[in-house]
Amino acid sequence: MNIILLGPPGAGKGTQAQFLVEDRNMVQLSTGDMLRSAVKEGTPVGLKAKAVMDAGQLVSDEIVSALIGDALDKLDTDTGVIFDGYPRTAAQAESLDELLATRNRSLQHVIELDVDVDALIERITGRFTCANCGEGYHDTFKTPAKDGVCDKCDGTEFKRRPDDNAETVRKRMEEYRGKTAPILPIYDKRNIVTRVDGMADMASVRAEVAKVLDS
Ligand code: AMP
Repeated sequence: MNIILLGPPGAGKGTQAQFLVEDRNMVQLSTGDMLRSAVKEGTPVGLKAKAVMDAGQLVSDEIVSALIGDALDKLDTDTGVIFDGYPRTAAQAESLDELLATRNRSLQHVIELDVDVDALIERITGRFTCANCGEGYHDTFKTPAKDGVCDKCDGTEFKRRPDDNAETVRKRMEEYRGKTAPILPIYDKRNIVTRVDGMADMASVRAEVAKVLDS
């Protein structure tokens, strides 16, 4: 099964993708994560992408589609894939069709996480992760049980994404509204889109997403 999680920054795509990885042995392909590791490693792609990401703009279609193609080539054809943060433009949606078709894959579901954009600013600007194990936290909604210590691995270092500041988030929202939301009709026409209330608590969203995959 191949699915797309679609929704603006902070809608919970990464969180729900992780649940699917745990529950169904699927693989999460997040172009955001791939680009962040390219930046960290200082690869040619990372060097190109860094300034664009810091400004909250979209990296070129060619770069992200090539990342997805390479990642798909590393998987067995029967491994289920969750596309998280890809496609983000009409050109990427077209590339994804080709990338899947040439690998004998097809798309079963597009799940749109429906959220209140104003509430997202608070969600995003408050989030941070454990620098050691990646566990996610939030200043208001989920602080570590013991102040400054990760619940999962006892790590004491935490980090925030450089693009999770209010100004960049606004630009990322604009990119979503202008370039990503308009690709929904492509999938609507194929009758594979389900809208899920992304403002509900994580467990309810998880259950709703599970229902869609089991339908
Ligand atoms: P994300 O982690 O999905 O929020 O992505 C973080 C940043 O990486 C975005 O703001 C973009 O600059 C870049 N990015 C991630 N995925 C894509 C994509 N599919 N197309 C273009 N840029 C992307």
